[in-house]
Amino acid sequence: MTKEWILPKGHLSYWLRQLRNSASLIAPLRVDGDIVFKSLENIHEVSLDNPALLPSPKEFLFPQQESLFWIEDGTKVRQLYNNEKRFVFGVRSCDISALRLLDRFYLEGYEDPYYSLRRKNTVFISIVCNNPEPTCFCIGLGTGPYLEKGFDIQLTDLGDRYFVQAGNAKAFRIIRQWNFLFNKPKRIDYEDQYEVFLSSKARFQKRISLENVRKYILAGKVKDSFWGAVTERCFECGGCVYECPLCTCFTVTDRVYSFGIDRVRLWDTCLFKGFTRMAGGVLPNEKRILRTRRWYYHKLIHYPDLLGGFGCVGCGRCTVTCPGKIDMATIAIKLRDLQDNG
Ligand code: SF4
Ligand code: SF4
Repeated sequence: MTKEWILPKGHLSYWLRQLRNSASLIAPLRVDGDIVFKSLENIHEVSLDNPALLPSPKEFLFPQQESLFWIEDGTKVRQLYNNEKRFVFGVRSCDISALRLLDRFYLEGYEDPYYSLRRKNTVFISIVCNNPEPTCFCIGLGTGPYLEKGFDIQLTDLGDRYFVQAGNAKAFRIIRQWNFLFNKPKRIDYEDQYEVFLSSKARFQKRISLENVRKYILAGKVKDSFWGAVTERCFECGGCVYECPLCTCFTVTDRVYSFGIDRVRLWDTCLFKGFTRMAGGVLPNEKRILRTRRWYYHKLIHYPDLLGGFGCVGCGRCTVTCPGKIDMATIAIKLRDLQDNG
């Protein structure tokens, strides 16, 4: 169940200071002309009306590199769990939608203890996007710009105040702790919030249905020549995978030092030839076209089958990142055009 409040904008810095005093606070900050998620020291550096930032907030639950445990004296194993309590402020709705699928991947069936602990200790405070970027297409996927559920705390900017929604017990407790900062919403606040949502919705330049693309692929209509042309444009840089809030590929390696061994988990990508290397050196996906096609099949066919949602939330990061211009939106639009032209 969701509960609502109003936070006057004049109270935001005080609230952020209080959050920072009770746990680590990460927010989008201006650093040397760029905006990046970083631990917050100066409240005035927070920047809220941003495009989707790189890297995505998946970094806070599934870091780019993470020590899993140490082996000392040949046998002693010391698990390295990160128990830090954190608030991540200023996250976009699409990234919150991505967390729902990451949760299913990392917590259902076998529960990944590293992800699980970080997830429990992290509260995400998201912001409804009032000004979607030309690269955004969450609107066609139901993953933004406003969420009905799945968030911890969701803010909508109403000009002089924020409409605040708490989506779970953890979030209610946080609001209650500083309840003197929050007011009860009036009817006009609900109306203004709806208007902000409608005006944001109207600003989307891209409207893409991945469902139609999925059906087209499943009907066997997409020829190898299409995937071949896509593959030709791929530099195998891995940028799309690393920036995607939903890509979960990783590898595990040992770093050997004179004083012990560090077992580390690192981001990896199924677009790289060695990712599926088997014992004996067999490479099932040695041909590049197999890897390219696999990435799209994974996101458009297997994710919905296995996790109940597309492996894409329409954040547009791959559009910004891909030097070959073969990002998810471009491919979906090309397939839609092929479909429309019979
Ligand atoms: S596939 Fe591209 S647009 Fe979709 S979630 Fe990943 S990075 Fe964002
Ligand atoms: S960002 Fe583009 S070029 Fe780089 S691996 Fe992804 S699809 Fe290939």
